[in-house]
Amino acid sequence: MGLIFSVSGVRGIVGTELTPQVAVDVGAAFGSWVGGGRVAVASDTRPSGPMIRRAVASGLMATGCTVIDLDVASTPGTALRVRELAASGGVVVTASHNPSEYNGIKLLSSDGWALPAEQVEQVRRIWQQRGFDLVGGDQVGGVETRQATETHQRHVEAVLRIVNVPMIAKRRLHIVLDSVNGAGSPGTAMLLARLGCEFVHINAEPTGMFARGPEPVAENLTELCQAVRLARADAGFAQDPDADRLALVDEAGRCVGEEYTLALAVQEVLSKRSGPVAANLSTSRLIDDIARRAGCTVHRTPVGEAHVAQAIIQRGCVIGGEGNGGVIDPRVVPVRDSFVAIALICQLLAESGKKLSELVAALPRYAMIKRKLACPAERAGAVLAAVREAFAGQRINEADGVWIGLQNGWVHVRQSNTEPIMRLVVEAEGDRQAQELVERVVRIAEAVR
Ligand code: MG
Repeated sequence: MGLIFSVSGVRGIVGTELTPQVAVDVGAAFGSWVGGGRVAVASDTRPSGPMIRRAVASGLMATGCTVIDLDVASTPGTALRVRELAASGGVVVTASHNPSEYNGIKLLSSDGWALPAEQVEQVRRIWQQRGFDLVGGDQVGGVETRQATETHQRHVEAVLRIVNVPMIAKRRLHIVLDSVNGAGSPGTAMLLARLGCEFVHINAEPTGMFARGPEPVAENLTELCQAVRLARADAGFAQDPDADRLALVDEAGRCVGEEYTLALAVQEVLSKRSGPVAANLSTSRLIDDIARRAGCTVHRTPVGEAHVAQAIIQRGCVIGGEGNGGVIDPRVVPVRDSFVAIALICQLLAESGKKLSELVAALPRYAMIKRKLACPAERAGAVLAAVREAFAGQRINEADGVWIGLQNGWVHVRQSNTEPIMRLVVEAEGDRQAQELVERVVRIAEAVR
């Protein structure tokens, strides 16, 4: 497919698409855009991490930036350090939930957020045009190195401040944690210990050789489900390699579905603090149900972490995130954070005294279906127009493709940034209704020529 430089950063297969030469250039482009100062750089546990991280660092130094080398760190941990160290920006070398032959370069702003799309585009243009502001030998930047443990500790401390630690610790929750051999492993173990949890840690070695499919979705979590049953645990937690997403397994060893991570985190936060919530348009209406019950509003944003983070800050949201298990609590850092999700879910379990399955059963259950529709980029506009027309008269949001609010569900169709496809997500009260909605949209899309 080739190297991708999209709104979510750079991604490619190491050795063919993502080479050290590419990484140096991306580093130099980001350094030129930042215009000097200190930039924090970290990598997840992939074996190619140190190679790419050092190449990015070289490019940054060549433009006069001082590199703060954080060694191995999670995405939220890095984001937090960018803020704490008052850096001009941050770089995380990670391909997130992609297999270990991939790597990527994710850019963070000086506030520690995912860099917004327009700004990523500015960096991409510098990279493409090779418009680097390289400095002379006497102005080249240096490197400050930091221990990886320091980032993990600082991150854990920040997360512990948002929950009632003695109350949670008293419950002695039994947890199975699956860190997928990723960057979250050491820090999350610290977090669970500090929360007084007794835990079994699987796929704990931070080797970057992922023992399961790295995306925390049901098909990859069979080992975790078994381990939860075997340990008679209260819950299972599954992270992705850069530890920004979290999936939950209930006490019976069942995957509860990725939408419930954010839903339960929102429920927990709104039980303590009133305020608006932000979520992207493809996130379940569970969030609306929970917010309505608490008398709070939900701001919907285009898909992409930076959009949600921006809405959280600009609208003063108390919590937000994405339905794929990405929870953002601005008290820690406006980035998706599996540590935050774990702390909030533990607090909810401890405080309610309920089983995870009971907490899930108390929420509505909707059917969500996600589909990719093959569609060349030049036809995307016509497909969106046809969908809009077919659902004329319904509630429509065009912030990102077309989102249609129906009586008992919704439809979201948008163009992919990286592939010649349209992404379709529908949610309805039941499987059959969801399936019918999917079929209806597919027919509309196929009729466009
Ligand atoms: Mg990730």
